Amino acid sequence: MSGEWSSGTTRHSRPPTCGFSSGGPVAEADADSGPFWDACTRGELVGQRCLGCRRWRAPAEFCPHCHTRAHEWLPLPGTGVLRSCVVVHRAQHPAFADRTPYRIARVELDRGFVLTCAVDGEPRIGHVVEIVFRDNLPHCRETGGN
Ligand SMILES: [Zn+2]
Repeated sequence: MSGEWSSGTTRHSRPPTCGFSSGGPVAEADADSGPFWDACTRGELVGQRCLGCRRWRAPAEFCPHCHTRAHEWLPLPGTGVLRSCVVVHRAQHPAFADRTPYRIARVELDRGFVLTCAVDGEPRIGHVVEIVFRDNLPHCRETGGN
């Protein structure tokens, strides 16, 4: 494949390489989510914000609040507050079976965007966390962690 990847009407500089390199599932970027995954490969976070109502939204063709198509991608801070966390004991895919139990968190980033991500360590609810990248996926950990 050449150095350009296309999904729908959006062209990206590289194919989506997100996911786990150990043969597990790979997140499939599409026209709506491609910019998010491209940023992850650079170790950056970006979020989609509606140009109609100015709310953050998960990458989508339409805003779930006002149905506006127009949106912008904005950089997001790498810190926020851990709002919730679950411990997964039963893997949802065979590739994750040897990783159980693992944690999934919801982090409210400093600009108000809520990110669902993997967890490093055992950060506490309500504490400040930072976002780091492993295998091109965002993980949160308590600030000052390794
Ligand atoms: Zn909207």
